[in-house]
Amino acid sequence: MKKKRAVSKEVYALADLKDWHDADPPIRLGVFGDPVEHSLSPQMQNAALKHYKIDMQYARLRISPDELREAIDLIRKLEFVGVNLTIPHKIAALQLLDVADENVKRIGAVNVIEVEAGKLHGFNTDGRGFARAIREVFSVDLRDLRVMILGAGGAARAIALQCAKENSERLVISNRSVEKAQKLADQLRDFFAGPKVLGPVPRLQAVPLEEAAIRFQIANVDLVVNATPVGLNRGDPSPIAARLLAPHVMVYDTIYSVERTPFVAAAIEAGARAANGLSMLLHQGALAFEIWFQREAPIEIMRKALVL
Ligand code: NAP
Repeated sequence: MKKKRAVSKEVYALADLKDWHDADPPIRLGVFGDPVEHSLSPQMQNAALKHYKIDMQYARLRISPDELREAIDLIRKLEFVGVNLTIPHKIAALQLLDVADENVKRIGAVNVIEVEAGKLHGFNTDGRGFARAIREVFSVDLRDLRVMILGAGGAARAIALQCAKENSERLVISNRSVEKAQKLADQLRDFFAGPKVLGPVPRLQAVPLEEAAIRFQIANVDLVVNATPVGLNRGDPSPIAARLLAPHVMVYDTIYSVERTPFVAAAIEAGARAANGLSMLLHQGALAFEIWFQREAPIEIMRKALVL
């Protein structure tokens, strides 16, 4: 018999999972990360749970990389509905899944786990969340866009795969380590073999995250997405200087730690339209809710909870 604890903690740890004293309402969902204090997922998921009068809550759990296996085992035993994974677990958790969906296998990263009959099912909602965010913020579909992604890590791979699946006009992957960008482009080559004709520039290209390459590409893309962590820390520069941006591009920064990230500020300086990553956070979270509960996420309730 689990003891009830009246007050919920801001952040739980592995020790709490090992000696579980259930809260009221019981915790059956959460986010595993390290650090995790900054996560905004609890406020939006708890608002959705409350809206549907589902008697459970979503918590933050600070789990270090060497604790991940044990923590995942424990959520199976404690009858969790599922968890989200954030930095640094999205790749490591892959090998702990019983079933990985197609997106997870292609991207090589998992951000949603559903526990069903003791089995762990892994999903990745970042790409679809990104597509919904772009549609919402800029009123345009990925298939109509020439997209440049900065980065080739987990978020960039999810976004690149989504652009490929939605048949974006063009995709440029720009990364500090250009060989990683090239590897990602090679994996997506089949998607871009189609007949869209764009003149002299290739439909799919990997380039270094360097000034000359960026300057050339900006003239040949519509949307530039930051999927690097540059801008997360106070004092970080914009991943692309304002002088390289242009008024015709739309700028989307997956970072949402502040409203005006350095990239958003650079875009505004250049006269471009820009948004931070809060809308992607919202939509990837709404998709996770729909996986866990098989019902439509109350998107406006979740949005309101995020911006309060
Ligand atoms: P990741 O897998 O660690 O990948 C990081 C990428 O950024 C790599 O391509 C890396 O290049 C590049 N990078 C790192 N430091 C850099 C620097 N100083 N200069 C230039 N490039 C650098 O990380 P991730 O999981 O993809 O996360 C990336 C960002 O996406 C984070 O800021 C995260 O907050 C954001 N994100 C947002 C949402 C949302 O819902 N809004 C969802 C997921 C992720 P190398 O290959 O050269 O190392």
